[in-house]
Amino acid sequence: MRFCAISSGSSGNCTFIETGEYRLLIDIGLSARNIEKMLLAKQIDPASINAVFVTHEHSDHVKGVGVWARRYRIPVMATAGTWKGMERIIGEVPGELRVEIVSGKGYRMGDLRIESIPTSHDANDPCAYTVESGGRKVSVITDTGIATPLMYRHLCESDIAIIESNHDIDMLMKGPYPMVLKRRIRSNLGHLSNQDCGALLQHVRERNPNGVFLLGHLSEENNRPQLALSTVGGIVSQRWGKSGPIDLTARDQSTDIYMV
Ligand SMILES: [Zn+2]
Ligand SMILES: [Zn+2]
Repeated sequence: MRFCAISSGSSGNCTFIETGEYRLLIDIGLSARNIEKMLLAKQIDPASINAVFVTHEHSDHVKGVGVWARRYRIPVMATAGTWKGMERIIGEVPGELRVEIVSGKGYRMGDLRIESIPTSHDANDPCAYTVESGGRKVSVITDTGIATPLMYRHLCESDIAIIESNHDIDMLMKGPYPMVLKRRIRSNLGHLSNQDCGALLQHVRERNPNGVFLLGHLSEENNRPQLALSTVGGIVSQRWGKSGPIDLTARDQSTDIYMV
């Protein structure tokens, strides 16, 4: 299995997952042209992608989805609510490429099983995803105001996961955003902070000491990569004496991971 965080954060999200038989993208939140370039830089042929799974309709997740589907004629999977929300952003997607999935359900495709995990976010029907193949499991969990027991279970079982570490609470509250936006980000329908992410991983580490966790969806305005790493790592270490493998999605070398 190959797992590659192509892009993560407010500028646009996209994750590449490859099994023996399939190549998937989770979200295309940058222009199709940009994602093509980023894939080619990693020697991945854009035409070899078999399907796109979408988490929710916010533009940092869907910007290039329509162009991609029309250009490569591959199916796009999203919940009914997400389809409704993203239609005006992504334009027409031919009916045969439009696949509606149900949040919380699992789907089998050849040698992989992908399961959608409901998230708590201000979108129509948002979800995260976990993919299993050949006894390995990877998860992408971002854009959620709360961590649910189901997310916790999947993270405990994951070899690799992107987990949201969106903002530092202090930076957000003292920063320039209007109060209504600060409240939205901190709400149950917003985003996980560095502190939330640390608290979640502290629990996950008990059952999954060796999983690789990549901190994702970092805010450019209200976070810093080193601050996210030190806050999350510090909270996990407080309890266990060490943090285990935790890294940033933004660091190129660390985000292209092969597992046999
Ligand atoms: Zn987002
Ligand atoms: Zn969002």
